[in-house]
Amino acid sequence: SKKLHKTHIFLPHLVAAMVEVEETYIMIKPDGVQRGLVGEIISRFEKKGFKLTGLKLFQCPKELAQEHYKDLQSKPFFPKLIDYITSGPVVCMAWEGVGVVASARKLIGATNPLNAEPGTIRGDLAVQTGRNVVHGSDSPENGKREIALWFKEEELCEWAPVQEPWLKE
Ligand code: ADP
Repeated sequence: SKKLHKTHIFLPHLVAAMVEVEETYIMIKPDGVQRGLVGEIISRFEKKGFKLTGLKLFQCPKELAQEHYKDLQSKPFFPKLIDYITSGPVVCMAWEGVGVVASARKLIGATNPLNAEPGTIRGDLAVQTGRNVVHGSDSPENGKREIALWFKEEELCEWAPVQEPWLKE
């Protein structure tokens, strides 16, 4: 029937759209805040066309830093990493979009800023792994986990940017 035909055409698009919209947790680390790079870093994600859904300046307690980086617990640099992340305020951000997790990682660049390509945030703005100015979730699952860890539900905003029809056909 016509109805069935319609379903066949539209359902795959609908499912694909639902699968692809991701969230990522981006954080400007204390060195980025201290060096006055907050506007510069936010603007890279903003200009790219992702949607900001959460934003705050925040002094991170030790326990939260430890939970956030729990996968790195056994690393020799772990205590230094926790001291670094808690050494001053960070800027916490939630960003949403199709493919935002991998794309944000590309915009951020390699963990060691000396290996990060020019044009990336770390490639342009940093020189050391221990002072690499920004964090980005490494998977959609971690994106969700980290946003839930750093934000209260009421701190996140669902909204429709007016530029959307000019970003997506
Ligand atoms: P990324 O932040 O690029 O996902 P990792 O998850 O491997 O990198 O590490 C998390 C953070 O831990 C890094 O961004 C960096 O701040 C810190 N870090 C990683 N490796 C080292 C290291 N060898 N020495 C000091 N700090 C490190």
